[in-house]
Amino acid sequence: MPSAKPEVKLNFSTDWSYAPAPESVKPEIKPRYDLFINGKFTPPVKGKYFDTINPATEKKLSEVAAASAEDVDLAVKAARKAYNTVWGKMPAGERSKYIYRIARVLQERARDFAVVETMDGGKSIRESRDVDVPLAAAHFFYYAGWADKLQYAFPGKMPTSLGVAGQVIPWNFPLLMAAWKIAPALACGNTVVLKPAETTPLTALKLAELIQDCDLPPGVVNIVTGAGETGSAIVNHPDINKIAFTGSTGVGKAIQKALASTDKKYTLELGGKAANIIFDDAPIDQAVEGIVNGIFFNQGHVCCAGSRLFVQESVYDTVIRKLKDRMKTLIVGDPLDKNTDIGAINSKMQLDKINHYLKIGAEEGGEVFTTNGDLPSKGYFCNPTLFLGCSQSHRVVQEEIFGPVLAVQTFRTVEEAIEKANNTPFGLSGGVWTDKGSKIFKVTSRLRAGVIWANTYNKFDPTSPFGGYKESGVGREGGLHGLSAYLNVN
Ligand code: NDP
Repeated sequence: MPSAKPEVKLNFSTDWSYAPAPESVKPEIKPRYDLFINGKFTPPVKGKYFDTINPATEKKLSEVAAASAEDVDLAVKAARKAYNTVWGKMPAGERSKYIYRIARVLQERARDFAVVETMDGGKSIRESRDVDVPLAAAHFFYYAGWADKLQYAFPGKMPTSLGVAGQVIPWNFPLLMAAWKIAPALACGNTVVLKPAETTPLTALKLAELIQDCDLPPGVVNIVTGAGETGSAIVNHPDINKIAFTGSTGVGKAIQKALASTDKKYTLELGGKAANIIFDDAPIDQAVEGIVNGIFFNQGHVCCAGSRLFVQESVYDTVIRKLKDRMKTLIVGDPLDKNTDIGAINSKMQLDKINHYLKIGAEEGGEVFTTNGDLPSKGYFCNPTLFLGCSQSHRVVQEEIFGPVLAVQTFRTVEEAIEKANNTPFGLSGGVWTDKGSKIFKVTSRLRAGVIWANTYNKFDPTSPFGGYKESGVGREGGLHGLSAYLNVN
């Protein structure tokens, strides 16, 4: 009898290492940015500025203006004047030319935008280069096309613009969220006042420079930087007609309360805790890629992240073995290195929040698996982590962590998978992996979530609507549905 062969194990930390591939572009980042109001960069009334840092190095990148309620008022006045005198009256075909111009110049400057996005927010250059910036340009192209066809989007109706839109966006996709909000608003004939998140203001300010270079009439787009109070001043300004907010469910609820007694239209795109469901007839290797993309894309800072994994019991061991092996190949580190899969956590505050949940998950009794790779000594980093053997009541299953942390559960039947997947206060997205089309239809039609992917995950397109049920928000953005959020359709 030949003796049993010793098991061959790959050492992922040595056999799979790549030479460094740092991004070489050095974009221009000014030492200080003012507010973009009425087509000009304007110092804030109270003269206050705050630092924006690179979360991968903890070094200051620039300082940006802190807009007070007075600054917001100036921005709203500029937007109102531009709406009344220029943008609201401009023939739609002319409006669309400006929006096309923004899209084209954004493509020309794509490399710079990608590098600044990565430096300011921590996401890997691979993602900002291949996802954030191209998708942002695609949103401007797509909505530029709609500007002069609004009556065809709503046959038999006479759609009219709303006026001034106030827009407050988060830090996870700073440029993409700005494009997602500004493009449909402008296409529908509105003017805007937009506030980027405190930790990631730079690409919105670079977009302001681009808009200036595109000769957009002054006041059509105004960008005011600041923290929560600036956002609140926008929400509560009496001369704003519509609020578009993306961010946490807590702030979304506060905004909804503030708007309840007004006639402002609003859309709220809030948190999520999506179920990614793997049936035993799924293509397992593809599903493992989908799980990784679902939760580790953008460090897990994704409202539609597949943060709850459900695996059918009969394939559980295989899926988890392959998932662990795949996770060991993920490169965590310098976001500006083109090999990096998982960049820096966006801020110290967010890293503290994730670490808090890692502690909670361990205390709740789930088996913890983490890749335990070496992390850079400076900056905010987190290894990808699984909590195995979770139950429905665990906090890591119920609450949005917004980090590279996946809570894993099993199921036996289709009914059990649906029941467990729907057992959440959220309803933004989900994923289903199976070989059977009929099962896809059965499951997706009963999952209470706005966006559901089948045999893929985290695929975005400007033509497709996006939005949630329950605590995940109100209204739809993107696609044709995204137009009605910026129009009166009577
Ligand atoms: P927030 O909801 O606080 O931030 C979103 C945006 O709203 C930011 O521009 C923020 O300003 C602004 N804002 C904050 N308070 C108010 C207010 N009272 N009125 C109007 N605007 C306001 O998210 P955080 O950045 O604090 O993140 C907290 C948690 O929220 C995360 O850990 C994550 O779980 C979740 N989150 C979910 C997102 C999603 O897309 N679903 C996106 C971001 C976060 P600023 O940040 O500049 O102070």
